[in-house]
Amino acid sequence: MLKQMLTINNFINNEHVPPVSGQYFDTYEPAKGTPHAHIPDSTPADVDLAFAAASTAFQTWSKTPRAQRAAILYRIADLIDARLDEFARAESKDQGKPVELARTVDIPRAASNFRFFAGRILHGVEESGDLAGVGFSYVQRMPVGVAALISPWNLPLYLLTWKIAPCIACGNTAICKPSEFTSLTAYMLCSVLKEAGLPAGVVNMVFGTGLGAGQALVEHPKIPLISFTGGTVTGAKILTASAPLFKKTSMELGGKNANIVFADCDFEQALRTTVRSSFANQGEICLCGSRIFVERPIYERFVRGLVDEARKLKVGDPALKDTNLGALVSKEHWQKVVGYVDLAKKEGGTIECGGKRPEALQPEFENGYFLEPTIITGLTPQCRVMREEIFGPVVTIYPFDTEEEVVGYANDSNYGLSCSIWTENGRRQRRVAGAIQAGTVWVNTWMARDLRMPFGGMKQSGLGREGGNHSLDFYTELKTICLAD
Ligand code: NDP
Repeated sequence: MLKQMLTINNFINNEHVPPVSGQYFDTYEPAKGTPHAHIPDSTPADVDLAFAAASTAFQTWSKTPRAQRAAILYRIADLIDARLDEFARAESKDQGKPVELARTVDIPRAASNFRFFAGRILHGVEESGDLAGVGFSYVQRMPVGVAALISPWNLPLYLLTWKIAPCIACGNTAICKPSEFTSLTAYMLCSVLKEAGLPAGVVNMVFGTGLGAGQALVEHPKIPLISFTGGTVTGAKILTASAPLFKKTSMELGGKNANIVFADCDFEQALRTTVRSSFANQGEICLCGSRIFVERPIYERFVRGLVDEARKLKVGDPALKDTNLGALVSKEHWQKVVGYVDLAKKEGGTIECGGKRPEALQPEFENGYFLEPTIITGLTPQCRVMREEIFGPVVTIYPFDTEEEVVGYANDSNYGLSCSIWTENGRRQRRVAGAIQAGTVWVNTWMARDLRMPFGGMKQSGLGREGGNHSLDFYTELKTICLAD
């Protein structure tokens, strides 16, 4: 018997509604290369419906006491926790990532996002000042209005909730546009929001493509705020379209992050973490360290060590607990990543390992978008492969001789998202971390995130910061009120 495919619908006013056009497209299970759900191909008409719902809801949600808002956010977090395994299985099936990664990273972080901002709005105090003889000033934080939240496919629920939680905690209402490739957990979140008691219209989801639905959100004259995570090229288009409308924008964009390994590092720890920072989530994390620079005395040993570890990684069925790498998100993306492996060969690189589909996949995964972890040496920092974001399980390793030289390599990039530094020398830790042009620098670690800290990119990796008070600043307008003495 043929199993019927799931049909996802938009979520407007707490109801699932079909797209106005009645059109859907298929979304694929990356591990199998087969369709598994129908996604609404939303258009500006759907955005208009969502906007009507969100702007009506704003009238009351923006005035709802913060304790009440926080209580709902805490309930959302609890409900996500309660459905952890279900969410993790869905994220893995839809995105291609190992289920264990979704269970231990993506979904718990989605719950933490709600919990964190629930707490944050309860305990904040605003500035005030007494100008004796003149007046007393204080700051009021106002929600901005209806926000457009546009998210990518690599960490679908993790990144979408990183936007929804602060947005609604601050009293805004939202229209979300998840990536066309990964709609499933966003769709599941809708029932959680409703069950948690979130009033109708506070969060609306419009599924579909960037051109069909995303652009309509960006160009909507009455949506004053856009939080976008995605590629730099898309970010530039959104900035161009939104600038004349003076929208508040937050741009979390691409990266080509350096991972700098000095000879005095804790070798085993650096190697172990570099395996993760290179290949976790199939290298599809904006923070992955795809440009590895190793100080010459340990260069050969590090390359051999990383190649040995990469060869041990298990690539295949994302549903198995011991799988290290699942499938890349889509056929197009797989082709793009493999294209960079071909380019690396043309640019004179040596493929030390990987660069192809794994050979021993079970028949059901034969059409999946799998790629072995790939390590490339022999390229120079000027090569395209070392400069352009690949966003797959592909890293380059390059030797260096001096601190000054490697800081130059790390900073010689259009991007500036993150960097890891491996050294046991305390002075060098501070010196190099201080010289690096990136929004986040990790010393002897990777991916450690403190939600209270600012997060964002320099240069073409983004504009603005989110996290802690920075999120509150983005999702509110600050008004100074002065009372005369
Ligand atoms: P894209 O830029 O292709 O897409 C991101 C989102 O924008 C998707 O929902 C997409 O829709 C939508 N979109 C596309 N075009 C438009 C448009 N003209 N107007 C409005 N919305 C549009 O990025 P990817 O999904 O490919 O994600 C990968 C990228 O995200 C990488 O560059 C990665 O580095 C970056 N990223 C950055 C992070 C950070 O924190 N700095 C974190 C995670 C990822 P559609 O559904 O059609 O794809």
